Amino acid sequence: MKLLVALGGNAIKQANEKGTTLEQFINCKKTATFLAKVVKKMGPQDRLVITHGNGPQVGNLAVQNDVAKENIPPQDLDILGAMTQGQIGYMLQQMMDNQLRDLGAKVPVIAVVNRVRVSRDDPEFRGENASKPVGNFLTEDEMKQVKAKHPEYIFKKVKPGDGKVWRRVVPSPDPAENVEADAIKKLVDAGVVVIASGGGGIPVVLDPDGHLRGVEAVIDKDLAGEKLAEVVGADTLLVLTDVEKAKLNFGKPGEKALDKITVSEAKKYLQEGHFLAGSMGPKVKACLRFMDWGGERAIITSLDKVIEALDGKTGTQIVKG
Ligand code: ADP
Ligand code: MG
Repeated sequence: MKLLVALGGNAIKQANEKGTTLEQFINCKKTATFLAKVVKKMGPQDRLVITHGNGPQVGNLAVQNDVAKENIPPQDLDILGAMTQGQIGYMLQQMMDNQLRDLGAKVPVIAVVNRVRVSRDDPEFRGENASKPVGNFLTEDEMKQVKAKHPEYIFKKVKPGDGKVWRRVVPSPDPAENVEADAIKKLVDAGVVVIASGGGGIPVVLDPDGHLRGVEAVIDKDLAGEKLAEVVGADTLLVLTDVEKAKLNFGKPGEKALDKITVSEAKKYLQEGHFLAGSMGPKVKACLRFMDWGGERAIITSLDKVIEALDGKTGTQIVKG
């Protein structure tokens, strides 16, 4: 099996936590305990590739930059993405390595600083289309102050009512290409457990002079993870989040957890709007793209169900058909 695991935010920081170093390492250790077991069970031809989100971490880093801005210049969003890739990559690498050592498995683990190319023509870059909220919730006054300094920023009201209901939104363009694809493939083929495309990858565009340049954007980590799955030739895509199964009529009367469903069933449910944009929607979309590309199966489940889900016993299993 060639397995691509996409880790959700809760694998690194639980919603109710502050995000201290210790808390994050404890979560990463738990995550690594499950994944190291997967590696231990693997045969010589099997491979594991890991990707992860960075929402809470990049949000906190943006706040740190903002608080300290009178003394230290705040960094652009692509840099913050790179910083959190390094941060989370290190934490997962350290914990995976330790768990594998404990199991007596000599498998190298490496996190790569990984760029993902997006298109300047992506609709998310046009006008007010940007859809991904980043950073602090602001009052209208605070929002206007920032806007005066950064007229290029787009702000949206993300909650009804007054008070801190405004947030900056940035484009969330579709991933077009994993820039480090060839190098990652070589590492994976050589038997390395690779952590890549963290936080959806560092967003870059190709300029007319043939050079890549970072842009202020956030790529969805599940969609970017799917691209990575294609790059490494994965047969299984495992999306790990905080729910055991995707549901129909989520949070409504008639809510129903999904077990094994076909690609065409999943497409129908997606069209009917059962999976919310920005959370379950991109996960199902990523699974469907993977299956359309030629994947064997795609699974959505929670971290603690990894082994059972890989055995086909739980999770939402998306199969051909
Ligand atoms: P992650 O950090 O793992 O990407 P998200 O919060 O983005 O987590 O996505 C998981 C969340 O998606 C669940 O906690 C749930 O609130 C939400 N969700 C939206 N639609 C559905 C659905 N149809 N079935 C289950 N969960 C859903
Ligand atoms: Mg998410």
